[in-house]
Amino acid sequence: NTVIDAHNISKVYNPETIPVYAVNNVHLHLERGEFTALVGPSGSGKTTLLNMIGGLDKPDGGNIFINGNDITKLSANELIDFRLKNIGFVFQSFNLIPVLTAKENVEFIMQLQKIKQSERDERIKQLFQQIGLEDKLNERPSKLSGGQQQRVAVARALASKPQFVLADEPTANLDTKSASNLLDIMAKLNKEENITFLFSTHDQRVIDRARRVITLVDGRIVKDTAVVSTEHKE
Ligand code: ADP
Ligand code: ADP
Repeated sequence: NTVIDAHNISKVYNPETIPVYAVNNVHLHLERGEFTALVGPSGSGKTTLLNMIGGLDKPDGGNIFINGNDITKLSANELIDFRLKNIGFVFQSFNLIPVLTAKENVEFIMQLQKIKQSERDERIKQLFQQIGLEDKLNERPSKLSGGQQQRVAVARALASKPQFVLADEPTANLDTKSASNLLDIMAKLNKEENITFLFSTHDQRVIDRARRVITLVDGRIVKDTAVVSTEHKE
């Protein structure tokens, strides 16, 4: 069951002057249920690649199939709609809306999708249980720790029940304990709800939690390794 299938995708910045091949002819195939880390030095193209797969940025070449739909063929409005239904995105700096409460930050995604009130309430209850923040529903982001804000961002990413979540350096602004807690929540969602995760990271402790590690250097995939999880090691 293929979730992401990217063929030959490229992104070139400054093509007219000094071209930067931020992503250079990348092929990437992800199956449902994967828990995959994207690693590589700063500037290797991780953010650019995630943004293109997430429909936040257009490739200059290639095709990106998400659940069988080529998102490079969608109009801007179709892409907004497709992204809302199919792709969860978690940013390094949380990006919660400061004037909304934790609950409202998650709920407005469901409102955009015209999900009815009773269903919204039920899903919010379930999501906040999953992120362990039932007692923070009505707090504004400024009252939450970084780790708590990122957990709300994960709930927001899952609000419209996408099959997969892309996360760009989700633990970069978190302390060790919060980072580990966030990974626990992501791993549990992966295991129990079969949510596919692709996350970029520099943090070896986060890399150690992945079941597959893809390494980018200068916009190319130089290594793609399946990891035997410690759970299964004797
Ligand atoms: P990473 O996430 O691995 O740090 P990025 O995707 O942010 O890598 O960047 C890849 C390359 O593209 C880098 O050389 C970076 O400087 C360049 N780059 C990224 N965004 C832009 C932009 N908007 N304009 C020009 N160059 C960019
Ligand atoms: P990260 O390393 O966390 O991926 P960066 O600090 O490389 O992020 O980039 C942050 C922002 O700056 C991104 O939106 C990226 O597109 C932009 N950017 C990165 N490199 C350049 C560049 N050389 N010229 C213009 N914008 C850039």
